[in-house]
Amino acid sequence: MNDHDMERMRSLLINGGLTCVQDVQEADIVIVNTCCVREKAEQKFYSRMGRLRSVKRKKGTILGVTGCIAQLEKKGILNRLPFIDFALGPSNIEKINKAVEEAIKGVPFFDFAENGCDTLPFLKPANVQSPVRAYVTIMKGCDNFCSYCVVPYVRGRESSRESGKIIEEIKGLAKRGTKEVTLLGQNVNSYNKNSNDISFPELLKKINDIDGIERIRFVTSHPKDLSPALIDCFSTLGKLCESIHLPFQSGSDKILKLMNRGYTRIEYYEKITALRKQCPDIAITADCIVGFPGEDDRDFHDTIDLIENIQFDNIFSFAYSPRKFTGAATLLDIVPKDLAQERLLHFQQVQKSITTAKNRQMEGKRTEVLVEDISKNSAEELAGRTRTNKIVNFKGTKDMMNNLVEVDIIKGYANSLKGANPKVKRG
Ligand code: SAM
Ligand code: SF4
Repeated sequence: MNDHDMERMRSLLINGGLTCVQDVQEADIVIVNTCCVREKAEQKFYSRMGRLRSVKRKKGTILGVTGCIAQLEKKGILNRLPFIDFALGPSNIEKINKAVEEAIKGVPFFDFAENGCDTLPFLKPANVQSPVRAYVTIMKGCDNFCSYCVVPYVRGRESSRESGKIIEEIKGLAKRGTKEVTLLGQNVNSYNKNSNDISFPELLKKINDIDGIERIRFVTSHPKDLSPALIDCFSTLGKLCESIHLPFQSGSDKILKLMNRGYTRIEYYEKITALRKQCPDIAITADCIVGFPGEDDRDFHDTIDLIENIQFDNIFSFAYSPRKFTGAATLLDIVPKDLAQERLLHFQQVQKSITTAKNRQMEGKRTEVLVEDISKNSAEELAGRTRTNKIVNFKGTKDMMNNLVEVDIIKGYANSLKGANPKVKRG
């Protein structure tokens, strides 16, 4: 979501006549986009701003802050960062050019108003970083109020974008060569839950019919809103990739209740079983928090048991971080930091061996890859993703770039796959 916000701002600024430079020292304007989901990101942001203050002193650089920390602190951000020139909340980033213009005139600019989803500007794809893949925001905000999460306080209430505008945007992207779209939202599967517009599975069907689009993904889904109609889409819609990100957060019913997640461990298992029944090859990834207040050894054991049983393709795992305004911030039964770190390490070791084993199971298979870039490992290799969202590096030719190719998987590692014998897919 944050990456997409940055892509949108970058696109708007370039269309407004600015140029991007790689080095902060060379820049006349520096914009820092922020996240406050966990405390560590917030600490990093404030220390970064300390360093940028010295750059500003030397060069008179204009400094702007966007995103969640700006929204959370609003004008209070000036108490800690009195030297910034502008700040915008995540709902206001379409005003980035206005903010820059005012700052150049020496007028401070601040906007934290909450706007609905239909104020989102379309991207001018010429300035989008990957020509072949695009993110399309379909909804904003969240109504779930998981007790640990600050998102509803900084991104506001849930609001879905009109389906007609989404389809129009994706048709435009397809015409310009986009082959893969990822639909974005905090909780995409509750899309249009309070409106008469079409449902999320209906939206997927319409996108599946757009010529030129070859792959559809979406992120993030909430297990409680994963309906049978959506699960069916994985077997009926040919362009919907065999991959889902379905955060479970904890394997303990006691902790899930304290987190206000709205499902039980068994209900989560049932959704996974239904997904695998409809789509046996589906790759399943998730998020999990360890060390939530009240988590004892048994609860943690339940979480490990769940990941060993389900065999996720990958999991983003975090130590719980208390956040201002959230329900969990007032819970008293705190897990000591050392113990939470110890659990996190154990969790990550268990999951790493599952992920590696899953990637090794791919060895010997021929699979489709959408080629996106030169590999980060070697300038002589190309990199792309399988439909199951796994990174594949392989030796190929330049004409394969931005195309669908088939490769043999010859090696599975912890974070990627190695491919060989690539052939461009036709038709
Ligand atoms: N909307 C998505 C969902 O419901 O899964 C994800 C939102 S959040 C930005 C991404 C992940 O950060 C969450 O799934 C959760 O695992 C983690 N997270 C959120 N708040 C956290 C906190 N206070 N401490 C640690 N991890 C947190
Ligand atoms: Fe946060 Fe929960 Fe909403 Fe995800 S569903 S954004 S974790 S409140």
